[in-house]
Amino acid sequence: MTKKEETTLNFDTIALHGGQVMDSVTRSRAVPLYQTTSYGFEDTEHAASLFKMEKEGYVYSRNANPTNAVLEKRLAQLEGGNGAFAVSSGQAAISIALLTLAKAGDEIVATNALYGGTYNLFSVTFPRFGVKVKFVDGRDPAAVASAITDKTKAVFTETIGNPGLQIADLKVLSEIAHEQGIPLVVDSTFTTPYLQKPLEFGADIVVHSITKFVGGHGTSIGGAIIDSGKFPWDNGKYPEFTVKKPSLNNRSYLEVGGSNALIVKARFELGHDLGASLSPFNGWLFIQGLESLSLRVRQHVSNAEKVAAFLAANEHVAWVNYPTLKDNPQYELAKTYLPKGAGSIFTFGIKGGLEAGKRFINSVNLLSHVANVGDSKTLVIHPASTTHSRLLPEEQVEAGVTPEQIRLSIGLEDIEDIINDIDQALEAAVKYSEASK
Ligand SMILES: *Cc1c(COP(=O)(O)O)cnc(C)c1O
Repeated sequence: MTKKEETTLNFDTIALHGGQVMDSVTRSRAVPLYQTTSYGFEDTEHAASLFKMEKEGYVYSRNANPTNAVLEKRLAQLEGGNGAFAVSSGQAAISIALLTLAKAGDEIVATNALYGGTYNLFSVTFPRFGVKVKFVDGRDPAAVASAITDKTKAVFTETIGNPGLQIADLKVLSEIAHEQGIPLVVDSTFTTPYLQKPLEFGADIVVHSITKFVGGHGTSIGGAIIDSGKFPWDNGKYPEFTVKKPSLNNRSYLEVGGSNALIVKARFELGHDLGASLSPFNGWLFIQGLESLSLRVRQHVSNAEKVAAFLAANEHVAWVNYPTLKDNPQYELAKTYLPKGAGSIFTFGIKGGLEAGKRFINSVNLLSHVANVGDSKTLVIHPASTTHSRLLPEEQVEAGVTPEQIRLSIGLEDIEDIINDIDQALEAAVKYSEASK
């Protein structure tokens, strides 16, 4: 397929065909798995030209691999982006994306309802490298704007915050960032490009943990960075993009990469030096996952909506936080940003507080008690004592973590079986807390 033909295709077709040019020798219909470390050079001149990025081609799979390249092109097309870089995990994607923009002495402004691992990365590890992260309430535009200084190199948010489910107002956040000449970087793991394309709302860079819904089967860890190709890196704030480098044959990243400069810089510098490379085998599994992404996400959403409605009507449940429930404070934002549904990860509180919550988790049979989200199986966890336990109590409150809160990630099992298991676990938990009164 030519590039022009590909850009006119719709989501489900791209998920199956995007980025693949059928191998002319074997005509393999499935994307081949190139499980190789290195690639033969034609001669010394060819080798030198690849190293200086004068020609396109493969050198070593730490930097790029043909199987992963199909995944990258496919993800970029699904997000409406210009280019992508697939890496070994979601954490690697966030780290590489942000450290491609910020160096020691620089700052990042991040909304405070974040995945636990990201929170730790920002509050402990980035400062060790001299990059300061300021946490702000993403629902307060004035707070976001006033946290930005001359040193700020990016604004970071999640599409749906974890675990409080704050829906990011991407139009507002991207306007604030762009007024200051910096990009908006968005973690879209919970929504996937099927439920939301952040680039359409003004975001500049999207990162994913493809470990979750994209992989879809709970088998592999991976991440991706997708760039819109539209941010003006020559606006004076990003000299690393415009300085001419001997290693690039006295050209700048902007000259070498053009609209793909961010991805080229990320791959050539941190991808190459830190080595958080995606295994081609995992890349190949993620391609299988993408093929059924929209089918699965539709079913995830449908099941989640039914479980949320069941819980909202249950006498043992104190509250349910699912954005598309009518009385949810985020209902209007959800209509704007998530018209196809608010995903399948949400929280509820059981009457009887922390003790009843623990009892609920210990009473489930079908639901899996694991530290993961976005699996095809239904998952349950208690955030305050696990995923968000590294936060201080006041930080937990800011991030939307409460002691009685239970997080669900609704899977693809038969809805009747999911609800029956939740129902019996609620009964067991309540009976226990009544007996212990
Ligand atoms: C899981 C997750 C990550 C981290 O991804 P890994 O692939 O586990 O490294 C980052 N952000 C969000 C929202 C996640 O759910």
